[in-house]
Amino acid sequence: MLKKKYIAYQCARCFSTDEPRLAWFCGSGQVFDDCFLCKRCFSECFNKQTQQQKEEWGFYAEKQTTK
Ligand SMILES: [Zn+2]
Repeated sequence: MLKKKYIAYQCARCFSTDEPRLAWFCGSGQVFDDCFLCKRCFSECFNKQTQQQKEEWGFYAEKQTTK
């Protein structure tokens, strides 16, 4: 049996601790690279990326092709 891993449940950008869900942000060269961010901070950081960087995200690339 694997032990559950507990991590700091806090947004790395706004330090909010009462978000229902945090997302792992792994952009390239971003300030909050490799950090857990709440939904709001995640989308703000995501939108700051270049078009090319955005396309590296699976969900974004999918959106573009289904349009
Ligand atoms: Zn946040």
